[in-house]
Amino acid sequence: MTKPNPDRPNRPKTVVRRTQWPGGSSTPVVTPLNMSVVYGAESPDALDAIYDGDDEGWTYAREGHPNAAVLAEKIDALEGMERGVITGSGMSAVTAALLSVAQAGDHVIGARQLYGRSLRLMNEDLPRMGMTTSLVDTSQADAVAEAIRPNTRAILIEVVSNPTLRIADLPGIAALVQERGIALIVDNTFTTPRAVRPKDFGADIILHSVTKLLAGHSDATLGYVAATNGDVATRLETIVATMGLTPSPFDCWLAERGLYSFDLRYDRAEENATALAAHLSQVPGVTRVLYPGLDGHPDAAKAAEILGQRTGNMICFDVSGGRAAANALVRAAKDLPFAPTLGDIGTTLSHPATSSHRALSEAQRAEMGITEGTFRVSVGVEPLDLLTQDFDRAIAASRDA
Ligand SMILES: *Cc1c(COP(=O)(O)O)cnc(C)c1O
Repeated sequence: MTKPNPDRPNRPKTVVRRTQWPGGSSTPVVTPLNMSVVYGAESPDALDAIYDGDDEGWTYAREGHPNAAVLAEKIDALEGMERGVITGSGMSAVTAALLSVAQAGDHVIGARQLYGRSLRLMNEDLPRMGMTTSLVDTSQADAVAEAIRPNTRAILIEVVSNPTLRIADLPGIAALVQERGIALIVDNTFTTPRAVRPKDFGADIILHSVTKLLAGHSDATLGYVAATNGDVATRLETIVATMGLTPSPFDCWLAERGLYSFDLRYDRAEENATALAAHLSQVPGVTRVLYPGLDGHPDAAKAAEILGQRTGNMICFDVSGGRAAANALVRAAKDLPFAPTLGDIGTTLSHPATSSHRALSEAQRAEMGITEGTFRVSVGVEPLDLLTQDFDRAIAASRDA
């Protein structure tokens, strides 16, 4: 059958009535994109059964929809989790995670080098909701221990920090908080389950900006959040539906398509990053290269312990010469999008001092090891020799500035 049977009884008599989906007996290989916001039920009894969970079915897209469910199950499988929820952005996953375990009167700890908007949430928004917060250096479990108070309910960390790629003491922090019943929330966006499965280290909640490496093509904004505890998982589902953190089906469909090649993209990007980091450390004019797999990384031992050989696709490097050199480098790197994101299929370049860390003073940035000459590279899957040529040309231009 190539088109709807014209003799069927329910042919449309007006354009306003919906047309029955012309399915036939074959099934599509690709997950269909289902944009429907509302779902019809057969009867009030049938609707009751769906709402009670006695029957499977959908009601209203904010409460959940098939494209999100398909994507969530795939990321669950990657993370070794169950009942993960897809959200409209990575930040809505961060918000849902924090609000699922902390409320007014509680204390929350965060890593000092969290993603910029997560830092803002810790510094401004949680306090406005009656919570207190502390930011600590999570590469030191001792610093976390000192920050713990009797009312501490959660700690939010990233395994590899942005942009200087410091490694959190995940096992040390997990041991500390587990014995005190503090929820360990791991934002696994940078590392991805290809490098680290936070659940294996005892994380209670795992979240992602799916926007980045998992979807991988910079065309969908999404998040993922999952909890190991069933009550917290239920609270996450409720928060996402009530606060309206729900994703668009189309973004879920795009992200699912991206996810099919995630392992391949990750491995190729990591291979490129390993080679590019080694190359950059030989290029005249480069004053520092930070990469978890490269000698001289300040947390090399912890990187080996937690990441093993999975050193990832992110590199940080420095050139001297201040803003003028930075401008010259970016202008000469015409084929490398200068864009404040990461995890795209192609290599992108970002400059923390004017993007992710622009809200900080120069002194605060210096304390984190960020100068006007600091660049962060999200390495993609293009041929390595193209990349080394692009960087050689760009760095040479920065020296002439
Ligand atoms: C991008 C990012 C986020 C926020 O994700 P969005 O999808 O942009 O909302 C959170 N955490 C990390 C580590 C990120 O890189």
